[in-house]
Amino acid sequence: MRPFQYERIADAHAAVQAGMTAASPAKEPSVLTPVQYLAGGTNLIDMMKLDIMRPQRLVDINALGQGRLGRIETNGNGLWLGALARMAQVADHPEVKQNYPVIAEALALAASAQLRNMASLGGNVLQRTRCSYYRDVSYTECNKRNPGSGCAAMDGVNRTHAVLGVSDQCIATYPGDFAQALIALDAKVEVAGTRGSRNIPFAELHRLPGSTPQLETALAPGELIVAFSIPALPFAKRSRYLKVRDRESYEFALASAAVALEMDGNTVRQARIALGGVATVPWRARTAEERLKGVTLDDEALNGAADLAFANAAPRAHNAFKVELGKRTLIRALRETAAMEI
Ligand code: SF4
Repeated sequence: MRPFQYERIADAHAAVQAGMTAASPAKEPSVLTPVQYLAGGTNLIDMMKLDIMRPQRLVDINALGQGRLGRIETNGNGLWLGALARMAQVADHPEVKQNYPVIAEALALAASAQLRNMASLGGNVLQRTRCSYYRDVSYTECNKRNPGSGCAAMDGVNRTHAVLGVSDQCIATYPGDFAQALIALDAKVEVAGTRGSRNIPFAELHRLPGSTPQLETALAPGELIVAFSIPALPFAKRSRYLKVRDRESYEFALASAAVALEMDGNTVRQARIALGGVATVPWRARTAEERLKGVTLDDEALNGAADLAFANAAPRAHNAFKVELGKRTLIRALRETAAMEI
């Protein structure tokens, strides 16, 4: 691991100021950002040990978790999750489990118990791809890590790579689970910068790779994720997260679906669908949602929605199975969500 400066900060404004110090311009790859916020460190420290991320300075923000950023707040308007709340803390929260089950399930199915106890929500949504070529610096061809160098995964071993949202520059899969739950519930993310705070729809936080896969989010240099707010919409309670993976624990999704439904008897009033394990970003399947609006969830509707969700899939040599697996995962998630007893 390379030498770095370490600073512990207990005030949000001071943290943002420190984060801005020597913050790299937006055109720089995020892996080269010289200042990084440190929360649980479960992803960042790994990346530093692998020499993928090389920050010159770490700003430890864990002390902010003693205040509002560590809290979970619920009321009639919705759920507010401080960015420094730990994954396990939120997954085990009784009101989250009861009224926003897709959030609790997505968090509980991620990583291991030790990691969930340590990892923060803010860090979780910013976790980096598991593309093995990205994580091994002996491969020089990686546009995300080394812009303009090419992509070793395109014609390499790409079984776990994305089939949706890909570009000719990068096909890396977004690895998280919680993000899909946030999209399914129309969440917003609050971020703080030197000009104050702003709220953005969570679905706009992650950027498609396009021609600049090194730029992964819409965050400005130095901006800090403060919280996630989830409105108490009618479909929040009837929601679930289904994750399919090579083994049943401590593994990333090959395909997953976060689903929320508002039902009128057997008819769908509104549907929300976000897919994981198959796309370069947490993927909202809007055309599938539209297909289900106002219809009964019979086989024709379910298959039609699944076909629409994967209509633009672009598989490579080893990951074509994800198209069928993703469709089946979505159909099962929709069936199980519709059958929930509320
Ligand atoms: Fe790098 Fe993306 Fe290609 Fe993986 S898929 S090698 S992260 S450019």
